[in-house]
Amino acid sequence: MRYKRSSALFAEAQKFIPGGVNSPVRAFKAVGGDPIFVKEAKGAYLYDEDGNRLIDYIASWGPLILGHAYEPVINAVIEKAKKGTSFGMPTEIETQLAELAVSMVPNIDKIRFVNSGTEACMSAVRLARGYTGKDKVIKFAGCYHGHSDSFLIQAGSGAVTFGTPNSPGVTQGTARDTLLAKYNNLESVKSLAVANKGEIAAVIIEPIAGNMGCIIPEESFIKGLRELCTQEGILLIFDEVMTGFRLAKGGAQEVLGIDADIVTFGKVIGGGLPVGAFAARDEIMGYLAPDGPVYQAGTLSGNPLAMSAGLAMLTELNKNPNVFRSLADKTAYLGAGLAKVLSENNIPFQKNRFGSMMSIHFTDEPVVDFESAVKGNNDKFKKYFHGMLREGVYLPPSAFESYFLNDALTYEDLDATIAALSNIVDDLK
Ligand code: PMP
Repeated sequence: MRYKRSSALFAEAQKFIPGGVNSPVRAFKAVGGDPIFVKEAKGAYLYDEDGNRLIDYIASWGPLILGHAYEPVINAVIEKAKKGTSFGMPTEIETQLAELAVSMVPNIDKIRFVNSGTEACMSAVRLARGYTGKDKVIKFAGCYHGHSDSFLIQAGSGAVTFGTPNSPGVTQGTARDTLLAKYNNLESVKSLAVANKGEIAAVIIEPIAGNMGCIIPEESFIKGLRELCTQEGILLIFDEVMTGFRLAKGGAQEVLGIDADIVTFGKVIGGGLPVGAFAARDEIMGYLAPDGPVYQAGTLSGNPLAMSAGLAMLTELNKNPNVFRSLADKTAYLGAGLAKVLSENNIPFQKNRFGSMMSIHFTDEPVVDFESAVKGNNDKFKKYFHGMLREGVYLPPSAFESYFLNDALTYEDLDATIAALSNIVDDLK
C-alpha cells in the first residue's frame, strides 16, 4: 500500500487546521504515522486518496451501522436537500423522527434533537441540574461524554489517548462539581453519595463503556447503581451515544433491562449526519425551554437533512431488528477468530465484547475499568494497528476506542481480517 497522497494532504492540512484534523484521534498520534485521507466509501469499504481499499471497522465511529453510503439514507438526504437545507422553523420531519425514536426506546416520552453527542450530554446534565436543583454530577473514570467542560475530568477516548484526560481550560470551579467514580465499583459511587449527600444531581454513565476500549458493566454494579440513584434522588443518565440504536432498538436500557432517567443519543440516530438527542419522561422534559426554565437551543437543531438521514436510518432498523443480532454474530465471529490467532501465538490480550462493540487490549489482566485499560501495551497496539492497515484493514487508531462493525461486512471480510492478523502476528511477539 502507498500513502503518498494522504501524507501530502496531511502536510497541507496541518498548515491551516490545528494538527491537520478537526477531531484529535484522527491524527494517528497514538499509533504514529500519517492519517489516511478518505476519498469515498461504500458498504464495508473505505477508498483512500491513494486508491487503496480498506475494510472499515470504524464506520465513522459508529453511525454507519448499515455500511457507508447506504442507499435509503443517501436518497432521503438528496431529496430533502432539493427542498432547502435549513429553515430555523419547525418541520414535520422532526416530529416523525421523534415519534419513531420514542416508539423504539423504552421509558421515554419526549426527545429533543441537537447536533452532536457532546451537546446531548451537556444539555442532559443541565436538565438534571435544573430538575433536581442540585449542582454535582458523578462520572466514571475512562468514560467519555463529549468535550464539554464538566466531562473532561478523567475522560476516555481521545482525551486519554492524548494524555489529557483533564484538559487545561476547564476551570477548578467546574471540575469541583464533577465527582469521579470507578467503573464497575459500586462502593466508589456509594462513598461519593454519602460524602455529598443531597448535593448530587446526576450520575452519568456509558451503560456499556466504549471509550476505554469496550468494558462491560457487571450486573450487580449497574443494577446497584439504579437502586442507589433511586434511593438518593439522583437522576441516572445513560449516555447511549454509542449504544443507542446499535445494541438493540431500545439500546442499553433494553438489553440491560434497566430504566434510566435521562438518555442521550448521537451517532446512529443521525445516520451519518450531525445529530445528537436527549430524551426522558414528560415530567423531566417539561423542565426544558420553552415549556420550562432550563434553557437549551440550536440554530441548526432538527436540521432537515440531518433529520431525513436519521429517519431513513431508524426506519430501516425498526423494520429489520435482525440487524442487531446479525451484527452481534459477526462481531462474535471476528472476535473469536482474532482471539484464536493471538492465543495460538502466545500473545497476551483481553478481548471484551458486548453485542457489536468490541476491543482488544494487549495485557494479561482482565480489563474492567480505566485503571486496567491503561495497562495495555501500547507498543504492541501500534504494531497491531499498522500491521493490519498494511493488510488493508482499518481499525480504531487507539486502544481506547471500540470497534464498530457495520452490517455490510460479509463473513468473507471477517475471514480476510482474521487472515490479515495471521500474516502480521509475528510482529507482535
Ligand atoms: N458520548 C459517548 C459515549 C461517545 O462515545 C461520544 C463520542 N464518541 C460522545 C458522547 C460525544 O459525541 P460527539 O463526538 O458527537 O460530540
